[in-house]
Amino acid sequence: MIELTIFRTGGVEIGASSFVPGATDQKTFAPVWSALLRTPEGNVLFDTGLHPVHIERPEATFGPGSLKVVMAKDDAVVSRLAALGVRTDDVTIVVNSHLHFDHAGNNGAFPKATFIVQGDHLAFAKGKPNFPGVYWDIPELTYMPVTGRVRVATGVEVVPTPGHAPGHQSLVVDLPETGRVVLCGDAAFTRENLARGEIRAPDEAAAKNSLALIRSLVGDDLDRVFTSHDAASWARWRHAPETYR
Ligand SMILES: [Zn+2]
Repeated sequence: MIELTIFRTGGVEIGASSFVPGATDQKTFAPVWSALLRTPEGNVLFDTGLHPVHIERPEATFGPGSLKVVMAKDDAVVSRLAALGVRTDDVTIVVNSHLHFDHAGNNGAFPKATFIVQGDHLAFAKGKPNFPGVYWDIPELTYMPVTGRVRVATGVEVVPTPGHAPGHQSLVVDLPETGRVVLCGDAAFTRENLARGEIRAPDEAAAKNSLALIRSLVGDDLDRVFTSHDAASWARWRHAPETYR
């Protein structure tokens, strides 16, 4: 039995053109979220969200700029998990799609977990200012660098989906009742990225291949993909305490 719970860890105000080529520059609110997978082999957390330092100081990480963090007290991942009856020490495995600050911001809260990250992503992110190490490059944490598709638990597999960054990965989950879903991180910010096959990315060719791969993983059923920063899609999903089984 696997159960998927999705919860908000904050949001960012950002120009839509950061997500889709040709879109307007008008600022929109984009949710930031994490997901808990309860499995017979333990609790798996997908991404750790924004660090709570941003509740009081939205500009704490990058200063005043194009991206504005929006975070409420309840958005802290530790609070979200507590509301579900899960302590940080109850999380066995953390999967980071990648190590940007809105996906790995609370890695430090899970010293007992094993972090599954693609090895080439770890190597790429280390020391880079736009992957602030203060949130993830912490000596007490246990990283398990992996290569390619790797089984995390029964029905749970990481799949490389590079383009947004080298070694970016998605999580493919085969749920007993719902069937297959993909938590795709920033491989697709919005449903529009998948529908159009276009996305803003440092490596656009790799990113387009990843969009195609994600579509193939769900047989083109885009309702089965949980995109990373998609306000319109977010409104249609089940959120904690509701679950997908
Ligand atoms: Zn990112």
